[in-house]
Amino acid sequence: MADTAEIVVVGAGMAGIAAVYHLAARRAARRVVLIDEREPLTLTSDKGTQAYRNWWPGPDATMLRYMTRSIDLLEEMADESGNAFRLNRRGYVFVTADEEGVDRLRATAREVSAFGMGELREHAGDASSYQPAPAEGFARQPNGADLLDGTAAHHAFPGLTPDTGAALHVRRAGWFNAIALGAWMLKRALGAGVTFVRDRVTAMDTDGGRVRGVRLASGARIDTARVAIAAGPVLPDVLRMLDLELPLFQELHAKLTLRDTRRVVDRAIPFLIWNDPVELPWTDQERATLRAEPDGERLLLPFPGGVHVRPIDGPHGDELYIIWTYDIEPRAFAWPPRFDRHYGEVAIRGLARMLPAVKAYFGHGDRGFVDGGYYCKTRENRPLVGPLPVDGAYVLGALSGYGIMGSHAGADLLAAHLTNARLPEYAKWFLPSRYDDAGYRAEIERWGANVGQL
Ligand SMILES: Cc1cc2nc3c(=O)[nH]c(=O)nc-3n(C[C@H](O)[C@H](O)[C@H](O)COP(=O)(O)OP(=O)(O)OC[C@H]3O[C@@H](n4cnc5c(N)ncnc54)[C@H](O)[C@@H]3O)c2cc1C
Repeated sequence: MADTAEIVVVGAGMAGIAAVYHLAARRAARRVVLIDEREPLTLTSDKGTQAYRNWWPGPDATMLRYMTRSIDLLEEMADESGNAFRLNRRGYVFVTADEEGVDRLRATAREVSAFGMGELREHAGDASSYQPAPAEGFARQPNGADLLDGTAAHHAFPGLTPDTGAALHVRRAGWFNAIALGAWMLKRALGAGVTFVRDRVTAMDTDGGRVRGVRLASGARIDTARVAIAAGPVLPDVLRMLDLELPLFQELHAKLTLRDTRRVVDRAIPFLIWNDPVELPWTDQERATLRAEPDGERLLLPFPGGVHVRPIDGPHGDELYIIWTYDIEPRAFAWPPRFDRHYGEVAIRGLARMLPAVKAYFGHGDRGFVDGGYYCKTRENRPLVGPLPVDGAYVLGALSGYGIMGSHAGADLLAAHLTNARLPEYAKWFLPSRYDDAGYRAEIERWGANVGQL
């Protein structure tokens, strides 16, 4: 095992793997060591929906620019790998039945369009002017977004509820296989000389305010002057090894994997998101049963909007990912996580508001598989990328619910910091030192931690 390194990267999730790929395979950094006690990508990075979008409403264009860079990198890697990770361009479709919701969709789309997403096109009636997305591939597709009125939305997506008021189709968006992408990047990084060490970092040695090395659970030590922390939801613990604290917290997010054995959901749909609050459709008898349960009453209250769905494989599979984060209370990282025992049923009933045919699975909530993980977030839901206040220490983290799509711009930026390359204009907004500015700290309290979150 290497006992010295130019750069040590802690954590082999999507962020750490993208970091070593950008450092070694794209910027020719040498003697880079990646450390994780787990199999690569198995803490948070294999638990999500693996989707991406150039849709980032407010408060300004910063996140949209960052994510646009990330998607440029995803497309470059897809081209270079022969699309080994099946990047598609099916898009994100936000759906509402609410009249004001239609106005809000239009206003938000205009705002994101002004930030640089691309033009907003409107379609009514038979949707003849609307270009549907292909099920596979990403080349030669429109950018921007299409706003379809209720009739046009039904032409485009016949499974939507009859009272759909509008559907907004964001076009530079879709999903891919995050494990295949991570494996491809890791292979390229190893081929460029990166060493992967299966161990846990337990301490960091510093001297005179500078990083000198990392200590591992096995008892080994690696001398290094530079360490980049990409520890996902464990980031606060690893920062504490350097006596650092940053404004971070975690949210637990679940997803349901459900087999659509009755084929009630079209396999060619984009990533569909229901925007409006939902009252779950329980029968009188179910209501009575829930009222009698200690925590059942909450399931009778209105739930927030945001339930979403996407098919997992192409036309031949039958699994769906269904996600609904109705509980975003901050909570401490604990592994393995425990989820609401009603999650599966709640997700199915919520989804049926948008896709009524899903009623076929009422009562099947516990036949699906529920898993998930933690979003590690900053107060303003922007990532941390760059140098820390200890010389030689860097971070790539707080990637919230966008780390699969957003690790690439983050790793590119981290590698630019580490190789003294020119930094992009947005770099300053992701520096940990941004919190030194009291004016910025006050401003982000107004933005809130859910800006840009589905
Ligand atoms: C339900 C759900 C849905 C999601 N959907 C999407 C989506 O559609 N699109 C999207 O872009 N993102 C999505 N995300 C978010 C995305 O999964 C995360 O942002 C991303 O996986 C974070 O990657 P990471 O590398 O920072 O963390 P992780 O994947 O958690 O990796 C961190 C690694 O660090 C290692 N580590 C920690 N401490 C140490 C130590 N001391 N020594 C050695 N190793 C250490 C851990 O073992 C782990 O392997 C979703 C997340 C969830 C939970």
